[in-house]
Amino acid sequence: MHTDLVVLGGGPAGLAAGMYASRARISSVLIEKGQPGGQMAATEIVENYPGFVDPIYGAELSLKMEAHARKFGLEVVQADILSVEKEGKGFTLTDDSGTVYSCRALIIATGASPVKLGIPGELELAGKGVSYCAVCDGPFFRDFEVAVIGGGDSAVQEAVYLTRFATRVHLIHRRDELRALKELQEKAFGMPRIVIHWSHVPVEITGVREVEGIRIRSAKDGSEENLPVGGVFFYVGLKPSTEGLKDLVDTDYAGFILTDDTMATSTPGVFAAGDVRCKQLRQIATAVGDGATAAFSAQHYLEKL
Ligand code: NAP
Repeated sequence: MHTDLVVLGGGPAGLAAGMYASRARISSVLIEKGQPGGQMAATEIVENYPGFVDPIYGAELSLKMEAHARKFGLEVVQADILSVEKEGKGFTLTDDSGTVYSCRALIIATGASPVKLGIPGELELAGKGVSYCAVCDGPFFRDFEVAVIGGGDSAVQEAVYLTRFATRVHLIHRRDELRALKELQEKAFGMPRIVIHWSHVPVEITGVREVEGIRIRSAKDGSEENLPVGGVFFYVGLKPSTEGLKDLVDTDYAGFILTDDTMATSTPGVFAAGDVRCKQLRQIATAVGDGATAAFSAQHYLEKL
């Protein structure tokens, strides 16, 4: 299949890019390996996407974005792309069944996923108190105690954010020193609601239908204690979904794709949008903005070819 543009990834960034490109009459195909919506589809309720005064289910918003993109003629294909090669001035993508797609411009919108620790209870209670997004789920924990795992910028920033709702935020970090920016650390140290459990690791999340507690273990003497929390937020790192793409574009040390503010990558004709990009804020609203910008830039690139 040959099109002018391939959008790789069907989360909010990819769907917005596909919608803008199709509306600009660029022949485009969006390739997604799962269901359109990405992480948004897995979010129970979205309360912070402008225009939706009443909360909307993430799955419903995903269907609406897909329908909106298809309305302008975007073709959506379900396929698992294993490799992307540069060929002349264009690109070829090969999926797991050997089908080849070729295009003149490419938008990478494959997203990122939170690193999971895989401790007992984490998977079983995901969405029932286990969360990877305080901005999305924090308001559900008003008047609860919660735990935040990690010691980086995300963990400390989100622990500070969660003090708006939770009566106590237990920050559980495996070392006796935080990795986070000093400014964030100072903010956290000044908040009486944040209790830091230095040199502790989470061992198990307890609860049947919902989270009831977390068992943590001292990395120093092996002693264990149970904290009675209603929510557990994991911030032990994010991993970009860039399998098969790393040789195509420059990334930062963690593998996130570097772009300029037009969403152009180090390779002419390749743009990146959304969570897969090296950026500050990963939200549906920022992903949609990236997608629109990437489509606009791809249009200009194609016009110049
Ligand atoms: P991160 O910087 O990779 O931090 C992950 C944290 O999780 C670290 O404290 C790490 O501990 C801990 N951790 C990792 N594996 C673990 C394990 N198996 N068990 C227990 N703890 C574990 O990730 P992030 O905080 O999500 O940040 C990602 C990037 O976004 C960074 O570049 C960060 O600077 C940036 N960011 C910036 C801001 C901001 O500027 N305001 C906000 C958010 C994110 P160790 O420290 O011991 O390694």
